[in-house]
Amino acid sequence: MNRIALYYLFTPLPDPEAVRLWQHTLCDSLGLRGRILISPDGINGTVGGPLDAVKAYVKATRQYPGFRGLEVKYSEGSAEDFPRLSVKVRKEIVSFGAPGELKVDEHGVVGGGVHLRPEELHELVDARRAAGEDVVFFDGRNAFEAQIGRFKNAVVPDVETTRDFIRELDSGKYDELKDKPVVTYCTGGVRCEVLSSLMVNRGFKEVYQLDGGIVRYGEAYGDKGLWEGSLYVFDRRMHTEFSDDAEVIGRCARCEAPTSKFENCSNPACRKLTLYCADCASDPATLRCPEGCTA
Ligand SMILES: [Zn+2]
Ligand SMILES: [Zn+2]
Repeated sequence: MNRIALYYLFTPLPDPEAVRLWQHTLCDSLGLRGRILISPDGINGTVGGPLDAVKAYVKATRQYPGFRGLEVKYSEGSAEDFPRLSVKVRKEIVSFGAPGELKVDEHGVVGGGVHLRPEELHELVDARRAAGEDVVFFDGRNAFEAQIGRFKNAVVPDVETTRDFIRELDSGKYDELKDKPVVTYCTGGVRCEVLSSLMVNRGFKEVYQLDGGIVRYGEAYGDKGLWEGSLYVFDRRMHTEFSDDAEVIGRCARCEAPTSKFENCSNPACRKLTLYCADCASDPATLRCPEGCTA
């Protein structure tokens, strides 16, 4: 049996290079593959392999005092889902381009949004609705991911990569949300740890973050809650659904047919992801950015 382990933890790491060497040796000796990023603020990883090896990895990693509280999600998959083992030291474990702004202590990110479990999210939404107030959902992912799935009525910032968030937040576009209850959400929660703290720093007064991200929300409520559509995932599958009742909210860039399938632009210099239906995707000639390639 094989599994993929996904995890992140924000904690001060005074010697990231030593952690990198240890993690590389550990994964290598267990035959695991995947991607691990280490920074002075923590660790963010996805590793796959035989279940016993993955469990041994998690156990060994938790022996480092700073990683004792490491929470791990397991999903279907194996070492074959990764081209190699990559363990790197970076300035940030999620690239917001703000390494100096994030404050981390042994309890995690300092001054971020309030964590809400899926049930607590529903309690907040219900309580505010009863008081005649709306809770704003703020998508913490790249804008294209929201094309196939998002929380109902979510605000989707115009970001191509996570590095665009600071520019978006500083643009003034979202200033009217600063006095409203705002819930940030992303795939597994890691991006919101940083995003919510950037928002608090910029004067958003009531910021929450969805604990465990869309993945944990989907486990709890499937397609019977406030989520609609598919979830974009960064592996070969490219999207996943919580149930057979998932709505298809994406639309083909050519013919507007419902679809959840992204295709790379057939221009090798571009490769931009665009939504296409199966019919339009079957002809490579039409797999070109509809408005022309920018690359
Ligand atoms: Zn089409
Ligand atoms: Zn293109």
